[in-house]
Amino acid sequence: MNEEYKNYFDAWETKTGAFIEYRPEAIEKAHNGTTGLSGLPFAVKDNIAVKGFSISCGSKLLEGMQSPYTATAVRRLEEAGAIVIGKTNMDEFGMGSSTDFSALKQTNNPWNTERVAGGSSGGSAAAVAAGLVPFALGSDTGGSVRQPAAFCGVTGLKPTWGAVSRYGLVAYASSLETIGVLAGTVERCRMVFNVIKGSDPRDETSHDAEEKSGETTKIIGVLSPETISKTLSGSTGSAALSPAVQRCFDKAKETLSALGYTLVPVEFPALRFAVPAYYTIATAEASANLARFDGIRYGKRPDWAENPGDLIDKARAEGFGQEVKLRILLGTFVLRSGFQDKYYNRAQQIRGVIRQNFETQLAPGKCDAILMPVYPTTAFGRGGSGLSTFAQKAADIWTCCANLAGLPALSFPVSLEDGMPAGVQLLGKPFDEQSLFNIAAQFEQLCPFSHPEGWKDFWSV
Ligand code: GLN
Repeated sequence: MNEEYKNYFDAWETKTGAFIEYRPEAIEKAHNGTTGLSGLPFAVKDNIAVKGFSISCGSKLLEGMQSPYTATAVRRLEEAGAIVIGKTNMDEFGMGSSTDFSALKQTNNPWNTERVAGGSSGGSAAAVAAGLVPFALGSDTGGSVRQPAAFCGVTGLKPTWGAVSRYGLVAYASSLETIGVLAGTVERCRMVFNVIKGSDPRDETSHDAEEKSGETTKIIGVLSPETISKTLSGSTGSAALSPAVQRCFDKAKETLSALGYTLVPVEFPALRFAVPAYYTIATAEASANLARFDGIRYGKRPDWAENPGDLIDKARAEGFGQEVKLRILLGTFVLRSGFQDKYYNRAQQIRGVIRQNFETQLAPGKCDAILMPVYPTTAFGRGGSGLSTFAQKAADIWTCCANLAGLPALSFPVSLEDGMPAGVQLLGKPFDEQSLFNIAAQFEQLCPFSHPEGWKDFWSV
């Protein structure tokens, strides 16, 4: 199998460019084990630490850096027998929705190489969709696991904030982000989550969830088309669902009804403020988190500088890409003294109301889960045929709300629309990932999803 897998790997990697670094000797060791995850190869987004592997975060500033230690989530998978084969491409520091903001290389969607794989965990999504690995780790700050999962036709989980240790994840916006899972099937996604979850003394915010009763109402909340347009008419920019995504959303509703779920209309009045609140909080946290990249402790040091201040200026000017600079500036702007009430504190208040909106609908006896679109479009093209960078941000409305509220959300493929995958997501109660897996697994059984042309199954049990 290994010779065949190695050739398959090389062929698809040339087409997709999913990896920043991979290890042929690890690929050689990979095999389809008989139990659990043993022997299975997996890929890790290049902002999650794996000892001895690259940790570039898709940035020139950290290009070539090797991690001296391993993230807890990765360590737990290795202890279960899985094998890291490489590090995947991403938007620089997780900032973006296409992976085109990687400063290091371009990643293509395995379904159509003219289209983006989504982002920021685009390399991980492409690697799974092409069948190069049965699963991969990504990170989700505002949708970065779920959106590329939808673009590439795979399953993507953003766990509850605190369910998975963030030790070893390079921070972008700490209060919003989690390590997440991309996998070829719902059950594989569940298997991986069950291994990586749980408290870790190295991340004080991680904890073990109390067991859920398992009792469900079989009620799923859905935004009606009217509520969607009402929400969007009050929001920033246009994030209206494309006809392709609308068809996919309708199919998902029909299938869930056929599976015996009762769909009830829900409303989240504060959702229209989600994107401005998200970008205020995310950039504020990013401006603090990225301050460590000074060319002294981390990052490429300029060849020559007048003095230490000049050295830091040069390291950042040369190392950070445009989008990262924009966001650091925006973050320092919203945090500057005297203006915190106007932006940052207000965004935190909106965040609180969004969380309450979801708590109301997910209260005991009400909905088990909420069905939402993932992104307004399927995978877009590059350059002029794509979405503007502003439109890409406005489009985060459907994903970033789960991060603002700290809730688990599972994105899974539903249909092929005009030849490209389209998916939906289910948001659930805190620490109730299992209910989301249960619903999505039933869905998957009834409507198994297809694969890109030339895909080969190396990893099914
Ligand atoms: N698209 C969002 C952003 O650019 C989400 C990124 C993420 O989840 N890391 O911030």
